[in-house]
Amino acid sequence: MLASGRRDARADAALTQMVEALRSARRAPNGADLLREYVPQLLSIDAEAVLPVFVTTSREREMPLEADEVLHLLQGHDSLVLSFLEDLVVNKQAAPRHCAKLGMAYVAKVEEELSLPGAQRMTQTRTKLLRFLEEAAGVDAELLPKLAALQLHEERVILCGREGRHREALHILVLDLNDLSRAEAYCRLVMARELQRPGATDVSVFSADLPGWARGVVFGPKKPNSGDKALDGFQDATSAARDHAERARPLMLLLQILLEAHEGAAAKPEEHKKVAAEYRDAVLSLLMGYAAHRDLPPNEVLGCLPANWSLEGISDYLSKCARLCLHRQRASMLEENLSSMAYLKTFSAWAKERMRKVNITLDKCCPVCNKRFVDKDSVGKAFVAYPNETCVHFACKEHPSICPKTGKNFSDNLSVYCHALSVGQDEQS
Ligand SMILES: [Zn+2]
Repeated sequence: MLASGRRDARADAALTQMVEALRSARRAPNGADLLREYVPQLLSIDAEAVLPVFVTTSREREMPLEADEVLHLLQGHDSLVLSFLEDLVVNKQAAPRHCAKLGMAYVAKVEEELSLPGAQRMTQTRTKLLRFLEEAAGVDAELLPKLAALQLHEERVILCGREGRHREALHILVLDLNDLSRAEAYCRLVMARELQRPGATDVSVFSADLPGWARGVVFGPKKPNSGDKALDGFQDATSAARDHAERARPLMLLLQILLEAHEGAAAKPEEHKKVAAEYRDAVLSLLMGYAAHRDLPPNEVLGCLPANWSLEGISDYLSKCARLCLHRQRASMLEENLSSMAYLKTFSAWAKERMRKVNITLDKCCPVCNKRFVDKDSVGKAFVAYPNETCVHFACKEHPSICPKTGKNFSDNLSVYCHALSVGQDEQS
């Protein structure tokens, strides 16, 4: 080692010079040929030293070789390939196939890191892989089997989420990761994205610091003080959501998975991380927290619950649903009555306006031209009447809303129609 160390001192200098020469050769007319010729030689001497030849900074974009040819040259040097692909991604020059390759490269490196004795579950490369899976384009479900084999559950959740495979993602969160709080946060994130909540796409379900609206309220670290809070921020925006059939209903999926887990844990307790009773409690907490949520309609929920569950156990849930549904029904009845009241008031205001009339007598003159409305032969001319009963010839009208005599503008005189439900309009008109 020492001998080679001493020899390296001189060789290193030569190597550095050669790398520098190749870096500048990228801009030379025959750069591509030089790289093709000398890179393999350099690789055989010291693979790590070659990277600067291919890694670009934002100022130097020149690279005479296509990314795929560089990858071909670097073949067999996994860490170089990985760094080169990372560089492509950072500089936004990566095609989807490069992203897919980088995903594979990360997974291979994670596998290597995890196989080391005393390895931590969360390695540096895993952190990179997680972020990469959340952001990069071109990564698809092909990675899933490999991730499953390595038990990289967090990565699987992110990938399933990207692919819209919410049931699978929730299944992993509940059964493999045994993290109900994240499962709930996952549901809330999916719902927020469906409602196109600003910023919802930038939040990672595994973020250590989830925003308040994404945090679980049923399975969160702190005890929920009121189950009604679970609906916060999701009830009002219902109309903004897409059609029922198109929408993913993550809460319904979570409920089904918890019920399956409950059954599974009763049959094979050794394969589950919680006992059946705990899954049952989770089901009841979820139902209480999201009672009468639009994604958990009570009629469907009752169809899912095991027949052998006692009515007593779900009575709290049922009474809460009944209360909330009754409230909604009353609210809609109230709306209906208010709207028919508005109609009647508008109709009566309209009828009252229609009853108003002006008298045009033989001697009445138009205030604009001072001529009469009725000529010698008793033929009337077209005229306009303003709400203050000023009349002018149709031809003399300058503005349909402004009285030419008083200058009063009647354009905002729509209050009776627009505010049919406000108090006191009747008395005013
Ligand atoms: Zn006139």
